[in-house]
Amino acid sequence: MSKEQRTRPARKAPVAPTAGNRETTQVQVRNKEKKKTSENGGGAKNLRYSHLLEGMVGCGDMVLLEPLTEESLLQNLKTRYESGEIYTYIGPVVVSVNPYRQLKIYTPDYIEEYTSRNMYELPPHIFAVSDSSYQSMRDRNLDQCIIISGESGAGKTEASKLVMQYVAAVSGKGDEVDRVKEQLLQSNPVLEAFGNAKTNRNDNSSRFGKYMDIQFDFRGDPVGGLISNYLLEKSRVVGQNQGERNFHIFYQLLAGATDDVLQMLHLEREVFQYRYLSEGGCSYVLTMEDDKQFQVTIKAMEVIGFSPEDISSVLEMLAAILNLGNITFAGYSLPNGTDACKVTEGRAIGYVCDMLGSSVELMEECLTIRSVHTTRDYVQKPLSESEAVFARDALGKAIYDRLFTWLVGRINYSIKAKSLTKKKVMGVLDIYGFEIFEGNSFEQFIINYCNEKLQQIFIELTLKSEQEEYIRENVQWKHIDYFNNAIICELIEHPTTGILALLDEECLRPGEVTDDTFLEKLDQRCAGIHPHYESRALKALRSDQTMDRDQFRLVHYAGNVTYGVGGFLEKNRDLLFKDLSQAMFACERPLLKTLFPEGNPKLQTLKRPPTMGYQFRSSVAQLMKNLLTKNPNYIRCIKPNDVKSGRNFHDDLVQHQVRYLGLMENVRVRRAGFAYRQEYGQCLARYKMLSGETWPVWKENPREGVKEILSACGCHELDFTCGRTKIFIRNPRTVFAMEDKRRT
Ligand code: ATP
Ligand code: MG
Repeated sequence: MSKEQRTRPARKAPVAPTAGNRETTQVQVRNKEKKKTSENGGGAKNLRYSHLLEGMVGCGDMVLLEPLTEESLLQNLKTRYESGEIYTYIGPVVVSVNPYRQLKIYTPDYIEEYTSRNMYELPPHIFAVSDSSYQSMRDRNLDQCIIISGESGAGKTEASKLVMQYVAAVSGKGDEVDRVKEQLLQSNPVLEAFGNAKTNRNDNSSRFGKYMDIQFDFRGDPVGGLISNYLLEKSRVVGQNQGERNFHIFYQLLAGATDDVLQMLHLEREVFQYRYLSEGGCSYVLTMEDDKQFQVTIKAMEVIGFSPEDISSVLEMLAAILNLGNITFAGYSLPNGTDACKVTEGRAIGYVCDMLGSSVELMEECLTIRSVHTTRDYVQKPLSESEAVFARDALGKAIYDRLFTWLVGRINYSIKAKSLTKKKVMGVLDIYGFEIFEGNSFEQFIINYCNEKLQQIFIELTLKSEQEEYIRENVQWKHIDYFNNAIICELIEHPTTGILALLDEECLRPGEVTDDTFLEKLDQRCAGIHPHYESRALKALRSDQTMDRDQFRLVHYAGNVTYGVGGFLEKNRDLLFKDLSQAMFACERPLLKTLFPEGNPKLQTLKRPPTMGYQFRSSVAQLMKNLLTKNPNYIRCIKPNDVKSGRNFHDDLVQHQVRYLGLMENVRVRRAGFAYRQEYGQCLARYKMLSGETWPVWKENPREGVKEILSACGCHELDFTCGRTKIFIRNPRTVFAMEDKRRT
C-alpha cells in the first residue's frame, strides 16, 4: 500500500484549484460533495484519527520530536516536505512549508474531512487551524485572529486565501450569506491586481500589508468584513529593479483590454512603450496570464459593487499614470542663470490631461514650476529638469497610492455588514515578512519594525503567556530562556528617544537638515549606548568595510540589517508639493477631488500632515491593540528554496527562517509544559463517558472527576498535573487515545 493510501482516506477524483479560480469554485463544489459523502454514509467522518496518525511521515507535532535539536527539527520538516506533508504543528501553531506545486489537499473532500474536528484528530493541515479558530469564534464567542508570517514567497497570501476559502465553505448558506461570501472572496483578486507585483523573490509578491476582519452573526454566518491596508510600496509605480515588474494591473490592462478601450484610454498594447513599465526589463511572467486575469479583476470589481463609472475612472487613472511617465523635460537657463525646464513630450501630456480632465497649461505649470510661500510673499520658482522629473514621479506615485487606498475604502463600503448588532470576528493578517536586501532603505526599516512588533505579539501571547499560565495555575515547569525583542521595538518606537521620533524631530527642525544630519543625531543618541544600534561612529566599527558612512545597522531579532539613510527624510515627510495637489483637485474628474482633498483651495492649512513614520507607528499600534483583544492562531510560513522549485529543500535557507521565526524556542516552551490543557468542568463534560462508571452527572469537585477519568483511561500520574482551574496533560497522544475511546 502506498503511503498516500495509508495516510489518507480514499477520495473521489479531486480537482486541484488554480490560484485564479480557487475562491469561487470551492464554495460551489462543496455543496455537491457534501451530499455525495452523506450518501456514502458519512464518508471521511467515520475515520479514526489514530489510524491516520499511524502512517504519518516524520513527526506531525514537533512537541513530540525526540530527540529535539535544531537538526532534528529541520530534518523533520524536510522529510515531511519531501513526502508532500507541508504542514507540521508545534502545539497549536502551524508551520507551513511552501510546496511550490499544486497539491490535492484543498479539495472539498478535505474541507469536509476537517470540518468540526478536533485539531489533533487528523494530520496537520491549515484547514485544521482554520476550523479550530472558526469553531472557537462561533461556539465560544471568542474573537479570533490568524497571524500569518514568513518571508517573501513563503506562502502567506496563499495561506490567507485558504483560510478564507475554508471559512466560506463551512459557514452557513442562503442568498444574502452567499453574496457576502462572494464579495469577501472577490476582494482578493482586486487587491492582488493592484497591490501585488512580480519581484525577484516571488511572482506574486504582496507589496502592501493587509489585515482583514471577517465579521459573523451569532450563528457564525459571514455578514461583512473590513480591510486595513498598510504601506503600499509606491516607489514601484515609477521604477523597478532588474527582472521585476510594476503592479500587475498595468500589464493586465494592456494585455486584456479591448482595442476600443485602449484607444479611449490613449494606450498602446506594447508594454515597453511606457517608461514606468520598462525599468525592470520584464514584461510578462510565465506563471501569469495577464489578459485573462484582467477579466477576472474587472469581474471581481463588478461583483464587489464597483459601478461601470467607478471602473472607468480607475482605468483612466492607470492610463494617466502610464502616460505621465512618458512626459520628458528639457532643461535651460534663464537670463539670471536660474535652471528651468519645459515639457518636450507634447503627446503624452495631452493624453494625461485628457484622462484627468485638466488643461495642458495647468499640468505643464504644476510639473515645471514650484510656488513658494514665504511669510510675506508668494513666489514662483522654476524647476530644473531633474526637479521636474522628481515632481512627475511624485505625482505618479501619489495618484497610484491614493487610488489603492480609495479602492480598499470602496471595497470596505461594499462589504460592510448591514446590521449594527454586535458581531463575532475572525481577523486574518497577511503582512510583509522580514526584509534584508543588498540595499535597505526607509521602506525596509518600516517593514522590519512591523515584524519586530509581530514577534513581540508572538512572544507575549505564546511564550510569555504560556509560562505565566503555569505560574498562575501553580504548575511545576522548567523556565525557558527566550530572546525578548521588546528592547528593539523600544529603540525604534519610543515616543521621544526612538529612531522614528528622532526622524520626525529632524524632519521638523528648521535650518539645514539632511539625511546626514539625521544620521549624526542617531549616532549621538544611540551609538555605543544601545546594544542593538551600530554605525561607523563606533570606534570598533570605524574600519568596518561592510558598512558605509551613510549607513546604520540594527541588530534585529531576525538578523542584522544595514540601512542606508539616503531618502529617509524625504520618504518620512512624504509631502506632495501643493502645486501638484491643487492641480489634481482642480481637474474635472470627481475621483481626483476625493484623492487629493488637501488640494482644495478653501481648505488650505499651514499644518503639516503627519509623517509617514508617525502614521505607520500609529497604525501598527492600532493593529497590535486589535490583535491583542483576539484569540491568536499562528501560521508560520517557510520558503524551502530560492528557485521556486517544488522539489528542493535548501537546508541553510530553512535553518535561517527556523531561527528567526523562533521555532526551536517555541517547541521548547511547549515541551517544557503540557500539550493539552482544559478547565476541569469542560474536560469533565467532554470525557465523562470514559469514567468507567455510569455517572451522567458528577456532583463532586470537577477536579476529582477529571482525575477519575484519567485514571480510568490508564493514564499515569506523571503524565498529567492538576492546576488551580485546569488539568494539564503532557502528551497529546493521551488526548488522542481519549478522543478515540470517546467515539467508540
Ligand atoms: P510576499 O511576502 O512576497 O507577498 P507570500 O508569503 O505572500 O510572499 P505567496 O504569494 O503566498 O507568498 O506564495 C508564493 C507562491 O508560492 C505562490 O504564488 C504559489 O505559486 C506558491 N505557493 C504558496 N503556497 C502554496 C500552496 N499552499 N500550494 C501551492 N503553491 C503555493
Ligand atoms: Mg503575499
